[in-house]
Amino acid sequence: MILDHIKNAHLYYSMNPLFQKAFEYLSSNDFTRMENGVYEVEGKSILAIVNSYETEPASQRVWEGHQKYIDIQYVASGVENMGHSSIQQAQVLQAYDEENDFTKFEATGTEITVPTSYFTIFYPSDVHKPNLVHRNSMQIKKVVMKVKVPEPLIQLTFASNNHHKLEEVRQKLNGTLISIAGLEESGIKEELHETGDTLEANAFQKANRVYSKFGLNCFADDTGLEVEALGGRPGVYSARYAGENASFKENVNKLMAEMEGKTNRKARFRTVISLVLDATEFKFEGIVNGHIAEYPTGQLGFGYDPVFIPEGHTETFAEMKPDKKNKISHRGQALEKLVKFLKEDLLK
Ligand code: IMP
Repeated sequence: MILDHIKNAHLYYSMNPLFQKAFEYLSSNDFTRMENGVYEVEGKSILAIVNSYETEPASQRVWEGHQKYIDIQYVASGVENMGHSSIQQAQVLQAYDEENDFTKFEATGTEITVPTSYFTIFYPSDVHKPNLVHRNSMQIKKVVMKVKVPEPLIQLTFASNNHHKLEEVRQKLNGTLISIAGLEESGIKEELHETGDTLEANAFQKANRVYSKFGLNCFADDTGLEVEALGGRPGVYSARYAGENASFKENVNKLMAEMEGKTNRKARFRTVISLVLDATEFKFEGIVNGHIAEYPTGQLGFGYDPVFIPEGHTETFAEMKPDKKNKISHRGQALEKLVKFLKEDLLK
C-alpha cells in the first residue's frame, strides 16, 4: 500500500508500465466538474471510476480485495479514512467474484487518513476498506483508477492450498511477471500423495504429478524437523510422527517425551522445494539450525514451532511474529532461492 500526494506521483511511474498514464489522467482533469461514471483511459487496461458519496462508519463497510486490477484511489475533494490490511491477515468471507474482480474479506487492519489531492495504491495483496468517516461524515469526490495487473509471462502452480504459503511466495514475486496459482485455483482437486522416504522424493512426487497429469509447470515443498540425538527423526515423517492424522500437539508431546533427559538438543528444520518446469527438475533447499526447547512456549505459528529455538535467538518460532520467522525460516530460505532462480535465470 502506498499513500502520497498527487504532486509526487512521478516517483511511482517506474513501478508499472501503465502508472504514468493513469497518474497523468489524475493530474490533468478537474474531477469536481466531471460526471460520475466509468471512463476508459486506455481500453480496459486503465479505467477511471469517478464517484461521489458520503463517508460511512467502518461498521457499514466491507473489506475488499482485487486480483485483476491495482487500485489507485484518488480523493479529488473531501477527506476520508481508508482501512488497510494484508491478505495474510485476512479471511475470505465471500469467494472471488471474477466478473466484478471482487473478494469480500474479514480482516483487522489500520486506518489511514486520505485528504484531498492524496492517493493510495492498493495491490492485489492489499485488502482495503475505503469510504470511511474521518471525524465527521462528509461528501467525497473520488476517482478510482483501475490499472490492469500485467499479464504474467510465466504461470506456475504451487502444489499447495495453504493460503499463508501461497501469499508468502506471491509477496516475494510482487512486481515480477511470474504468477502463482494454488492447487484449487489450478482446478486440481485430487489429493497429492507423499509416499517417498526423503523430503526430496516427496517434493518431486507432488510437483511431478501436477506436471505429468495436468501439464502444468509446478513446484512443491516438503519440510521436516531433523533432531540430531534422534538420528534425524522425525524428518520426513514430521507430520505423522505420533501416528497417522496426529495433531501438532500430539507430535510435540511425543518429541518432548523422546527428548527427555537428552543433553544434545541440536535440531534443524529443512525444506526442499522441487520445481518441475517443462519436464526438467530444479531443487532448492533451506535449512535453519537451532535446538529443541525443554518445554513448549508461544502461541504463534504451527507444528513444532513452540519447541524450536533457532540459532542466535532466545525465543521459539511460536513466539516470533510471522514476518520475523519467515525471514529466517527453512521455508523462507528455500523460497528465496526459488524466487532468485525464477527472477534471474528464467526471466532474463
Ligand atoms: P509440510 O511439508 O509443510 O507439510 O510440513 C510437514 C510437517 O512439518 C508439518 O505437518 C509440521 O508438523 C512440520 N513443519 C513444517 N514446517 C514447519 C514450521 O515452519 N514450523 C513448525 N513445524 C513445521
